[in-house]
Amino acid sequence: MQIPFVDLAAQFRSIQIELDRAISAVISESAFIGGKYVHRFEEAFASYCRAENCIGVGNGTDALYIALRAAGIGPGDEVITTANSFIATSEAITMTGARVVFVDCDALTYNMDMKKVPNAVTARTKAIIPVHLYGQPADMETLGDIANKFGLLIIEDAAQAHGAELKGQRVGTFGRLGCFSFYPGKNLGAYGDAGAIVTNDAELAKQCRMIANHGRIGKYDHDFEGINSRLDGLQSAILYVKLQYLEAWTEKRRAIASRYCELLRNSTIVTPVEVTNGRHVYHLYVVRIPNRNAVHEKLKTVGIESGIHYPIALPNLRAYRHLGYKPDDFPVATACSREILSLPMFPELSDEQIQYVCHHLKNTVRELGE
Ligand SMILES: *Cc1c(COP(=O)(O)O)cnc(C)c1O
Repeated sequence: MQIPFVDLAAQFRSIQIELDRAISAVISESAFIGGKYVHRFEEAFASYCRAENCIGVGNGTDALYIALRAAGIGPGDEVITTANSFIATSEAITMTGARVVFVDCDALTYNMDMKKVPNAVTARTKAIIPVHLYGQPADMETLGDIANKFGLLIIEDAAQAHGAELKGQRVGTFGRLGCFSFYPGKNLGAYGDAGAIVTNDAELAKQCRMIANHGRIGKYDHDFEGINSRLDGLQSAILYVKLQYLEAWTEKRRAIASRYCELLRNSTIVTPVEVTNGRHVYHLYVVRIPNRNAVHEKLKTVGIESGIHYPIALPNLRAYRHLGYKPDDFPVATACSREILSLPMFPELSDEQIQYVCHHLKNTVRELGE
């Protein structure tokens, strides 16, 4: 059996007629930049997140950069984020001229350890970017209290967590601004790069829209220099079609996750936990195992593609050596980076495939553990 890590072609086949029709409409109307398809998706996604405004942008990294800039973050400022994420989170901070400050993650949820945030706050700290990693909501209640206490702004990185919730509230709406990626492999994926920002602050929404579109106030009138980072008509039309299926796909991901947990019970494999009152949307299904690299390789030989998210914690990357951190400064993130393994996860995964993965994973971990 061959089991891919994700199968975007299977999803395409299931909605091909609708997608073909949507794509042709945009092309025949030449509605490539701006226009009704973009507005329609922005409105639908705002309503999906239960936010007042949505600004479509070029990708998730730009969403973070634009949100930070709209919030006035720049040179001289510090922004706190988690040691366990994709580099885009910290890159966006650096892009504004601000300095990145990393905080270790929690061993159970892999999200930022909020208890360690107050220690990272200095007189220069302006904002915090929590990441809802793997689709699990970060502890926004504790973080909200810390942000209030120190007068800090929260910008959420919800790139992996479309539709995730805490006490029924959707991620992206806990902070001042919420950032999403529609990279093809994300839970809601475009057919190219795309992203969005959601916010309940109308002034910030207007500022984000201007930054994403050359600081424009008229066709050739500009209030300031922005960038070109727009969600385009084709991606909007594709995303609008897919958004109608997102809840059903998310429920499938959740069902697959609970099946994995059931089949991997009674083994040394550490399966994901779900936080109380949270809705995990399982962008990734991440387990912790000893001998991770050997298991990852062995699974390939039986046709199972697994992933590692991420093999090197952000502060340990060469890209951040100038910050002068040591791996010991982030013991949890550093240990996790050696033990985590992401199993195949996509809504079309069949029960037979799940059983095959669990069978081989358990056997491999047992054999290599002896
Ligand atoms: C994918 C991702 C991003 C960046 O999104 P792009 O659309 O690829 O720029 C940012 N943060 C996290 C946590 C991501 O997973």
